[in-house]
Amino acid sequence: MKETLERIRREALEALEQTGAAQDLDALRVKYLGKKGELTAVLKQMGRLSAEERPAMGQLANEVRAAVETALESRARKLEAAALEAKLRLEAVDVTIPGEEPVLGHKHPMYIALDEIKDIFVGMGFTVLDGTEVELAEYNFDKLNAEEGHPSRDWSDTFYFDTDSRVMLRSQTSPMQVHAMETMELPIRILAPGRVYRKDEVDATHSPMFHQVEGMAIDKGITMADLKGTLNAVMEQLFGKGTVTRFRPHHFPFTEPSCEMDVQCHKCGGAGCPTCKGEGWIEVLGAGMIHPHVLEMAGIDPEVYSGWAFGMGLERLAMRRFKIADLRLIFENDTRFLEQF
Ligand SMILES: [Zn+2]
Repeated sequence: MKETLERIRREALEALEQTGAAQDLDALRVKYLGKKGELTAVLKQMGRLSAEERPAMGQLANEVRAAVETALESRARKLEAAALEAKLRLEAVDVTIPGEEPVLGHKHPMYIALDEIKDIFVGMGFTVLDGTEVELAEYNFDKLNAEEGHPSRDWSDTFYFDTDSRVMLRSQTSPMQVHAMETMELPIRILAPGRVYRKDEVDATHSPMFHQVEGMAIDKGITMADLKGTLNAVMEQLFGKGTVTRFRPHHFPFTEPSCEMDVQCHKCGGAGCPTCKGEGWIEVLGAGMIHPHVLEMAGIDPEVYSGWAFGMGLERLAMRRFKIADLRLIFENDTRFLEQF
């Protein structure tokens, strides 16, 4: 029996020393210490020993059990530590390896042009407003003097949401004039850029969605001279010192008098060339003095206050600013195109 116990101790300790995995430790525990294990089998035979032999064998058996248990525990701790170390090694980050460079986007050419315009107007004391793209026809048309029957309200020109033509995608940024007049304290100086929608077919110069920039100033004693002076100053900053402009009479329902403003062609100086289609001038925006009835509808007394307003197409301005020939390029989001700016 003594030999058997010694053999069990030797074999168990050797086997434990060679174990490389936690589940193998469990198997060894069962093999030697389990209910049907080798050591247990030896202990069951103790009864057959003489009274003199029993204490010595009992002590030895306990020693073997203790030795195997201690070895099991220490082996388990070593395996655990080794596993943790391997895991840490695997998850270690080498901070000296160069990182992957993030791909940075480009500012869209149209928004570069818009930011320039915003800077100019903010510098003159204007507030930049955001407007909703879904608008009531009342604000898009009625309160801007385009009442029922006005051609721009036609179903073939406008995107309506409902059959009685009350809710629509705004066809211009001008409703922001009315919102500003109704909600802001006088005097008012605002710039309101944003998307507008019309039922246009897509071609080199048209799109059913495009951007406008609306501008408006209302105060006591504002005249057409303020309109011309402000817009001339803006054009000089946009297109360079000495930029020549001209104002032509026009008609808009919500301004009186109304005008369109042209900038003398920067390429030919007014002689006529392909850039200006031989005209010598390039149309930039529509403007005018706010119609007294529009002021009145918004609750502003036209006998005391007057104001001017303008609306400018942003795509066309960006096209001219960056010499882009086709409007569609602005919306296609082809990065090969956008990366040039
Ligand atoms: Zn020209």
